[in-house]
Amino acid sequence: MKLKKVDVVICGGGWTGLAIAKELATRTSLEIVVLERGPAQSISDYSNNMDEVDYTLRMKMMQNTAEETLTHRHTLRDTADPVRRPGHVRIGTGTGGSGEHWSGVTNRYPEDTFTIKTALKDRFGSSRIPENLSVQDWTLTWSDIEPFYTRVEEMMGIGGKAGNIQGRLIDGGNIFEGPRSKEYPVGPHRQSLPMTVFEKAARQLGYHPYINPAATLPFDYKNPDGIARPGCAYCGFCTPYGCMIGAKAQPTNLLMPILRRKKSFTLRNNAWVRRILHKDGQAEAVMYMDEKGNEVIQPADIVISSAFPTGNARLLLMSKIGTPYDPLTGTGTLGRNFTHQMSGGSGFQIIYDKPLHGYAHAGGQSMSFSDFDSFNKLDPDAGILRGGTFTGGGGGSGLPISSFGNIPPGIATRNWGADWKKAALLYHDRMAGAPGFSAEHLAYKQNFLDLDPTYTDKWGDPLLRTTIDWTDHEERVRAFAAKISAQMAKEMASVSGGKLVQSEGRGAGRRSGRYQTAFYATTHLHGGAIMGDSPATGAVNTFLQHWSMPNLWVIGASAFPHAGATNPTITALALTFRAADAMIDKYLKNPGALA
Ligand SMILES: Cc1cc2nc3c(=O)[nH]c(=O)nc-3n(C[C@H](O)[C@H](O)[C@H](O)COP(=O)(O)OP(=O)(O)OC[C@H]3O[C@@H](n4cnc5c(N)ncnc54)[C@H](O)[C@@H]3O)c2cc1C
Ligand code: SF4
Repeated sequence: MKLKKVDVVICGGGWTGLAIAKELATRTSLEIVVLERGPAQSISDYSNNMDEVDYTLRMKMMQNTAEETLTHRHTLRDTADPVRRPGHVRIGTGTGGSGEHWSGVTNRYPEDTFTIKTALKDRFGSSRIPENLSVQDWTLTWSDIEPFYTRVEEMMGIGGKAGNIQGRLIDGGNIFEGPRSKEYPVGPHRQSLPMTVFEKAARQLGYHPYINPAATLPFDYKNPDGIARPGCAYCGFCTPYGCMIGAKAQPTNLLMPILRRKKSFTLRNNAWVRRILHKDGQAEAVMYMDEKGNEVIQPADIVISSAFPTGNARLLLMSKIGTPYDPLTGTGTLGRNFTHQMSGGSGFQIIYDKPLHGYAHAGGQSMSFSDFDSFNKLDPDAGILRGGTFTGGGGGSGLPISSFGNIPPGIATRNWGADWKKAALLYHDRMAGAPGFSAEHLAYKQNFLDLDPTYTDKWGDPLLRTTIDWTDHEERVRAFAAKISAQMAKEMASVSGGKLVQSEGRGAGRRSGRYQTAFYATTHLHGGAIMGDSPATGAVNTFLQHWSMPNLWVIGASAFPHAGATNPTITALALTFRAADAMIDKYLKNPGALA
């Protein structure tokens, strides 16, 4: 079936897709269709029917891996296996995408992230930069992106405290952040007991702690679009849930209320895009399957791909747009510079002598210090090229079912029976972890994306193959993170009078050795359709417009040339707003290549 042509078709109705739809729908009269493969979702779903078994254990909001998943191999020599359960990543589906069940941690990237190659050369000299790195500058600088960070923070109502306003450093904020044009729109979250302990310990060790900026509104707020939301109720059911009162910034409560009022906007759920159709260097339409399994062609003047980084890369590869990356020759840009945010920690836990009330907690409510971000305080001779952020004091006991049974080692020999139950009840709300570390993941020539030659999705299309492994560099970063985390853990135990115990860290990031898909790390994947200053270095230009197809835009963290130290979403949205401005203010007036 072929439908009537529209002005814009957007493939993927998550954070970035609905954000660009909102910009276009409110600032132009263009007819916009968003195709979202997952079901409709709205705030009422979260207030009526949420259940820990469905959402946390059965991962109701995630992509069904029986329908589509990633495959993984460590090296070119290996055969990739499909990831059969949501393991190392939890990719979302349905209206709002992963933006519905995210945690809302919203640190900006350090200032020199965007000029990484230049920064590395200046610090180490070209001869000390490992040959297998594939780092490149991002095509923009801090002053280009800062206004867009501010716009995203104002849209979401980020609660935080600035540490650097126009060069003036402010104690209590992140003094290592790039200069901000203004203060956060909302004040920071209140401090829980473990956050207070984290702050004291960090200060005693000479670090500069701050309350993490978060999209889980600490106070009532009305954003510049006129969307009013209530402050967080600290219900604890934040990740991986939608917020039942709308306090967490989500596409369904910030963008859909505006879009729904626009006659020029249509969202089609259960619409699974399989190809972008193109001719003579122009995108002409997309082909998708509707909920009845019919093949539908939607012609459009402008096509935007916003299907999460891995979805974007896969759609381009399947549509044969751009030159696939070849790791042996280094040619081609599509699939290049695939990265996954790194994490680390020490596995220490502190047992407190009183309950922490950890069930009353919000996503992102935690403390951090950035003394080791970028190159700050890193020994240039320690073999660590880039650092990251230490975060702790969040979490507490967590949810009643899924986090039950976290007990100190050596107390019960099995995880059932009377002794175990007694200990599980006693310690459930008295243990808090040592700080974790989230670090930059540099791009390597050998880590990339392509189409799997064996495995297919439910439509018979090839799955996306990820070829990625950690290197000695990440091993050194993890060892460093473990050292600082242990130092903090000891100080936190001393400050609080708590007892320090060592348990094995959970999660892929905290395990040393090779990249793993069995344990959750983060859903912070980047690259595959990166921005570059020419078609030889990027799939898209600085405005996320495809280099070889000017009416195709590929938005999201797929454009990141490497993984910054912290979580990616506000950076992805800042680039999305910048792309929207370029499209509206330049491209629509004079359609063609903008760079
Ligand atoms: C548990 C969890 C916690 C997180 N916490 C944080 C955090 O604290 N801070 C942070 O910065 N980030 C966090 N993230 C990451 C954040 O959610 C993503 O960075 C963000 O949602 C990315 O926006 P996006 O538009 O690229 O993708 P999404 O928001 O995932 O949207 C992509 C959409 O495209 C749809 N789609 C995919 N393929 C197709 C297709 N072929 N046809 C049609 N539709 C398609 C998907 O169904 C999805 O709805 C978290 C993610 C998870 C899963
Ligand atoms: S903790 Fe706050 S922001 Fe998170 S879901 Fe509950 S009320 Fe919403």
